[in-house]
Amino acid sequence: MQDEQLTIGAIRRHVVAVHPDSEVVTATADGTRRRSYAELGRRVGQLANGLRSLGITGDQRVATFQWNNAEHLEAYLAVPSMGAVLHTLNIRLFPEHLVYIANHAEDEVVIVDDSLVGLLAPHLSQMQTVRHVLVAGPDAAEADLDSLRADGTEVGLYEDLLAGQPEDFDWPELDERDAAAMCYTSGTTGNPKGVVYSHRSAWLHSQAVNTGSAAGLSFADRVLPIVPMFHANSWGLAYSALMSGASLCMPDRWLQAEPLVRFVQASQPTVSGAVPTVWNDVLGHLDQYTDVRLDSLRLILCGGSAVPVALQKALWERHGLLIRQAWGMTETSPVASTGIPPVGVSEEESWRYRGTQGRLFCGVEGRIVGDDGQVLPSDGAAVGELEVRGPWVTGGYYDSDDPEAAAKFHDGWLRTGDVGMIDELGYITLTDRSKDVIKSGGEWISSVDLENALMGHEAVLEAAVVGIPDEKWDERPLASVVVREGRSVTAQELRDFLARDFAKWQLPDAWAFIDEVPRTSVGKFDKKVIRRWPWGVRSR
Ligand code: ADP
Repeated sequence: MQDEQLTIGAIRRHVVAVHPDSEVVTATADGTRRRSYAELGRRVGQLANGLRSLGITGDQRVATFQWNNAEHLEAYLAVPSMGAVLHTLNIRLFPEHLVYIANHAEDEVVIVDDSLVGLLAPHLSQMQTVRHVLVAGPDAAEADLDSLRADGTEVGLYEDLLAGQPEDFDWPELDERDAAAMCYTSGTTGNPKGVVYSHRSAWLHSQAVNTGSAAGLSFADRVLPIVPMFHANSWGLAYSALMSGASLCMPDRWLQAEPLVRFVQASQPTVSGAVPTVWNDVLGHLDQYTDVRLDSLRLILCGGSAVPVALQKALWERHGLLIRQAWGMTETSPVASTGIPPVGVSEEESWRYRGTQGRLFCGVEGRIVGDDGQVLPSDGAAVGELEVRGPWVTGGYYDSDDPEAAAKFHDGWLRTGDVGMIDELGYITLTDRSKDVIKSGGEWISSVDLENALMGHEAVLEAAVVGIPDEKWDERPLASVVVREGRSVTAQELRDFLARDFAKWQLPDAWAFIDEVPRTSVGKFDKKVIRRWPWGVRSR
């Protein structure tokens, strides 16, 4: 067989040659803007020439500070195809982490959306290697460019850089093991850690996402990645869509339920992907405006945290929207498994399986490992840490001598930090992240199980459960609950509700009713913050 390299450049060539009639649609304040893949391909050539004119050569890093939109997609194709490395900056990181990752990756150029100039500007002077900032987007000409002019940094308009550049570029022959992109994990302790994706890993991962076990895309599809392109490459959905010739519907900064729903109606996506909180908001909107239908969507990928069965059922039964749970992490490119039920099970059983993290794709192997490092049986009973390995699982962290980073690997396997079990059919059920498990009187209580059950109560919008110190039991569960608007519920009622499915010792005995659950930079429940609340040591 021919030794063709699996590169992003090959995806670019394919899109231009075979799917020029597909399109990228981007949401605007009052509608959409559209670009065919033929035009996308021409602009990608212009962007590569423009970046070369700024001196980008070899594997230098080009960063993006952008929402999901057409220009971000252009960078996704141009930067890796020219041999440089795309570094997607997470716009929601704490400023000190943002500055740290830009310096650590040694970013040379930053492409920033016009709407994000104000967020980036205060930190540019600390980004020591950045020498050029390009402002992109329809309103770039009105942006405050002066605010970006830190010492020695040149600022220009993205469109000015592209204008007049040739559409053809002298694309290099790349090795598929060369770096294509990088992404930093959000860093719960210490500094964020960088994961470097190769062309090959991006290719293989996108193919896996393209199979029927995940998104099952073809060029007849239209894909709406709501999960940001700065968070684990929007779960690979951009490259997967391009590979299959599917059109892309980009929501830009309009991520609230109401504009999202309007954008779905305007752009008619068939497949979408977002974290559970987004679908929870969409559910609330659809329940309120019952004449609104999202019938174009045949499949929703959902993950990033456990996806409550109650949410899945409500979307399916009330609005005909099918959710497929996916599990993964930045370190696994990210998608590694999906929760599709086995064939022939009862409806009740099928919902139970949809609540699991599901079966791993061919290419990712998994095992459960006990506290002392021994491999436990995949029997659906033994609980331990999930470890994975495979060609789109990272083998290390970028330029890191952090002992915490080295400790993430065990005999060549990645320690995921997720705790759970694998059953005889290969289904993974995660009960917690290792740092979130609640150990009460020597027994583990799953915060995820309690949260999922609580979010199944009709008066509960969101619930986060953490362990708080307890003199007698070491830790006891505390449930913080956000009650749906217009509803009310007491702690005793919620305890009684949980008591149907949980043993008495597993029930939370501390309750907090809060306005919203604190979130991390990638929109997950931030349990660190909840634990820091002044609960003190409980005594009874
Ligand atoms: P961060 O580590 O910054 O939260 P990641 O997106 O890399 O960012 O998070 C990966 C983690 O998210 C996983 O290790 C797991 O704990 C959690 N996660 C992702 N998908 C699921 C899922 N379907 N169910 C439960 N947890 C999930």
